[in-house]
Amino acid sequence: MIISGKELSARLKAEMAEEVKGFPAKYGRVPHLVVVLVGDNPASVSYVTGKAKASAEVGIRNTTIRRPESISEAELLELIASLNADAEVDGILVQLPLPKHIDEDKVIAAIDKSKDVDGFHPLNVAALWQKQPCTLPCTPKGIIKMLKAAGVEIAGKRAVVIGRSNIVGLPVSKLLLDENATVTMAHSRTRNLAEVTRGAEILVVAIGRPKFITADMVSEGTVVIDVGVNRDPETGKLCGDVDFAAIEPKASVITPVPGGVGPMTICCLMENTIECFKRRF
Ligand code: NAP
Repeated sequence: MIISGKELSARLKAEMAEEVKGFPAKYGRVPHLVVVLVGDNPASVSYVTGKAKASAEVGIRNTTIRRPESISEAELLELIASLNADAEVDGILVQLPLPKHIDEDKVIAAIDKSKDVDGFHPLNVAALWQKQPCTLPCTPKGIIKMLKAAGVEIAGKRAVVIGRSNIVGLPVSKLLLDENATVTMAHSRTRNLAEVTRGAEILVVAIGRPKFITADMVSEGTVVIDVGVNRDPETGKLCGDVDFAAIEPKASVITPVPGGVGPMTICCLMENTIECFKRRF
């Protein structure tokens, strides 16, 4: 079974669009998401465009603020302070990565926690690990939604997450733990990785290396979630961290790249924006 993040996200966005239609009557306006893009990194530009397109589909007001690569950290922090203070702004997202002269952690921490639609603010991260109400980071949230939509029973399963980044690996491990999976976190220093991955009933791969996970690393019937977004060095096309063609026949459930985790991430961003908006009333 291939889980189409594209189809699931289209369904969820249509449901959100229905709900948002009622907001002007109920709240006097629609949610407003501000995306800040520094520089013109092509991948970032494409992500920001995708976010604007999804906002239009859902009926969320979207403002993209573009600033040159040369912007200083102080100027960016000033911009964030003004967005924090703007009562008509419900969600603030600073597209990462930022230029090297800007401290990303400082910028993320400067965003008002209640407008942190990415769920990256240290207080949101702390709340996630303490099981307090919080804005969940979009990619991990989307992964859990996909597993549930596919009818995957998570409780009691052996889940292996490869990658321990703040934006994917760590939070998805926590969400799987909260769903009562037995979670193993693997990374670049893990010994005998193939042995670890073969023991997985649910395998989440977030490494950033094209087709790194080969068929011999996956057991028959595994649920495989591929987070990676890479260029295939041979074809130049987008591909995941998983060798999809070789593993799909063995997996019970698998996500494609493109059209898997990516669209669900944007869908959850829309959901987070609506949640931040509603909390303001
Ligand atoms: P990251 O910050 O670079 O982290 C990569 C992780 O992979 C690290 O924890 C690293 O281990 C681990 N790793 C690297 N080489 C490894 C190896 N040979 N064996 C085992 N583990 C290894 O990356 P990220 O931000 O989490 O992103 C991962 C991928 O997901 C990228 O392709 C990114 O583009 C994609 N992504 C997709 C979405 C989406 O919405 N579809 C969202 C976010 C990210 P160490 O910690 O030991 O270095």
